[in-house]
Amino acid sequence: MTAVELTDSKSEQEKGRVPLWLDPDDLWWLSRHCCCPPDASEEEHDRCGRIRFRASAALHKHGLEH
Ligand SMILES: [Zn+2]
Repeated sequence: MTAVELTDSKSEQEKGRVPLWLDPDDLWWLSRHCCCPPDASEEEHDRCGRIRFRASAALHKHGLEH
């Protein structure tokens, strides 16, 4: 496995982010779960895609991608 790029708590906090710990199963579900209604706005789709991307990136970082 290649070196894991650890999240830098300080720089994440500077972006206004907060830590979120989830079980791998929950991350896996989240990374594949699109809950956008048929009439969702572009902004909602963007947010949904962003969250799912980060969930799968978190799994990938830990080598837990199914
Ligand atoms: Zn969605």
